[in-house]
Amino acid sequence: MSLEEAEQAAQKVRRWKARVLRHRPLSPTAFELTLSREGLDFRAGQLLTVHGRTLYEDRNYSIASGEKDDHIQILYRLIPSGALTPQLAALAEGDALEISAPSGEFMIRDRARPLVFIATGTGIAPCRSYIRTHPDLAITILHGVRTAEDLFYRDELSSLAYHPCLSADNSAEFRGRVTDLSKTFPFPDNAHFYLCGANEMFYDMRDILRERNINPAAIFTEAYYYTHEV
Ligand SMILES: Cc1cc2nc3c(=O)[nH]c(=O)nc-3n(C[C@H](O)[C@H](O)[C@H](O)COP(=O)(O)OP(=O)(O)OC[C@H]3O[C@@H](n4cnc5c(N)ncnc54)[C@H](O)[C@@H]3O)c2cc1C
Repeated sequence: MSLEEAEQAAQKVRRWKARVLRHRPLSPTAFELTLSREGLDFRAGQLLTVHGRTLYEDRNYSIASGEKDDHIQILYRLIPSGALTPQLAALAEGDALEISAPSGEFMIRDRARPLVFIATGTGIAPCRSYIRTHPDLAITILHGVRTAEDLFYRDELSSLAYHPCLSADNSAEFRGRVTDLSKTFPFPDNAHFYLCGANEMFYDMRDILRERNINPAAIFTEAYYYTHEV
């Protein structure tokens, strides 16, 4: 397919103009965008493609809100040298944002199994969508960030089995990466593992889970980016 054909195909994907209802900081570098729902249907764990000024600036964002919420939320880390996030950072309430229909496969496979969600940074987004959609979910959460200010949604998650891992901050119960905690953590039997965030974390985690005799078929991943965030 030529570049021109690829651009034409991309234009044909159905797009919506969502309105920004709220734009708020979650930490000094991470932000939550609340968008009008526009009748869009999605399943917890899916993502939105957000369109930038050109085709090359389109990026994916996990939906962080619940299936029944009357709005859609995403969260993003501002990358000052990045293509799209500086455009997102400029959005104000009432602005329009072009998005494509929800897509992706990072949905919960089996709600009867205990679920272990291991996230780095903004990778907590689909976990929040799972919980808002299924409040009774049997879930254990390991959230790795650099400092406590990046524990987005801590207030909402702390009534659950929620285990922050701080790689550069002494203020929490566990100092280290999610991979460090996972070496000895008492994971529930028969669990499914959902890993989300920095790609490099997955490689280490796969080795750790293999050493702990976790079946690779019980591990599901959603990769966001390749640079270490935590
Ligand atoms: C399936 C999927 C779901 C995603 N969901 C989310 C989400 O919910 N929230 C979110 O913030 N991002 C998410 N991302 C990443 C997002 O699509 C963008 O890549 C990111 O927001 C940076 O976009 P940018 O155009 O500003 O920077 P780019 O120009 O794309 O990237 C600049 C550099 O920043 C690095 N980078 C990208 N994201 C981060 C990050 N969070 N921390 C540190 N370095 C980073 C990239 O590896 C690259 O080297 C997702 C990606 C995928 C593939």
